[in-house]
Amino acid sequence: MRAEPQSFDRVLSSMCTEPHPAAREAAERFLATNPGDPGTYPTVATLEDEAIELLGEIAGLAEPAGYVASGGTEANVQAVRIARERADARRPTVVVPESAHFSFNKAADLLGVELAVVPTADDGRVDLEAVRACVDEDTAAIVGVAGSTEYGRVDPIPKLGEIADSVDALLHVDAAWGGFVLPFTDHEWHFGHAAVDTMAIDPHKMGQAAVPAGGLLARSADLLDELAVETPYLESTSQATLTGTRSGAGVASAVAAMEELWPDGYRDQYVRSQNNAEWLAAELESRGYDVVDPELPLVAASIPTQLFEALRGEGWRLSRTADDELRVVCMPHVTRNQLESFVADVDRLEDE
Ligand code: PLP
Repeated sequence: MRAEPQSFDRVLSSMCTEPHPAAREAAERFLATNPGDPGTYPTVATLEDEAIELLGEIAGLAEPAGYVASGGTEANVQAVRIARERADARRPTVVVPESAHFSFNKAADLLGVELAVVPTADDGRVDLEAVRACVDEDTAAIVGVAGSTEYGRVDPIPKLGEIADSVDALLHVDAAWGGFVLPFTDHEWHFGHAAVDTMAIDPHKMGQAAVPAGGLLARSADLLDELAVETPYLESTSQATLTGTRSGAGVASAVAAMEELWPDGYRDQYVRSQNNAEWLAAELESRGYDVVDPELPLVAASIPTQLFEALRGEGWRLSRTADDELRVVCMPHVTRNQLESFVADVDRLEDE
């Protein structure tokens, strides 16, 4: 096999990034371990406990329960599964904002729960009145997004917690992408700010760990118990994860990245990424394009389809929002030089 992975030079669309060197090294070292079988692979199992402690610290949870998942999708599916297990209704409902990641559609399909999709207001955050209007005794969970995939918006998590409490539902926060930048902002998004029950927070996104390293956090171990199944042939007796055999590389690299970067390295990175996003937004705006204010390091702007395609033709990896805007995620690998060269291409190609 001679293929080389593509470089990150022109990647502006991804929510993953180049792992920190310490994370890459740890991933390689733990490639042949399986945290799904902690009795046989105790070192990586201990590392997973450390990963959850560190994730808890980042997410404002003193005694966290959870595990290192394959990514935000698994964490979201499992959170919905916890809620379903706790619900009395035969077909429980999970309330999600329209800005929620498509992994909740997978969760609903797999788990036989009803998704109640509520609109977002003009500011891109969930419409609280719409949430209030749709909850009832069948509501198993409300989902709040802390760093939405398309616009980086943060839902009013404390208010969602109050609504969830009023109908005895769980509150799940999807901070899969936002969780490693939000600690350096004024947003109220974590366990310490609200009655959050579960959270997705992914080291393999802004956390600079190697793929696969997602995070599922739960306020207490009994929530995680809802997922546990007996494991007769393993040395341990039960398993809460969705996958069986899992990559120890993700676990080890998550610990290595967080030990290296939390909090100062992540703060510096947030500042760099946010400055880059604001710079790019201003450059695009000054050229007459409509730009969505980048609250977090993610820029969306309306540019002509022809220009979008021409930029892709130059090798830029770009993505679009559902409303067809250009979407640039200012991940750690995205530098100011790179963005300057992107804007130079915008100038050159918009005249063609
Ligand atoms: N949640 C959010 C907010 C995301 O942005 C993403 C992916 O971009 C996911 C969940 C799914 O994560 P993964 O692709 O790691 O499963």
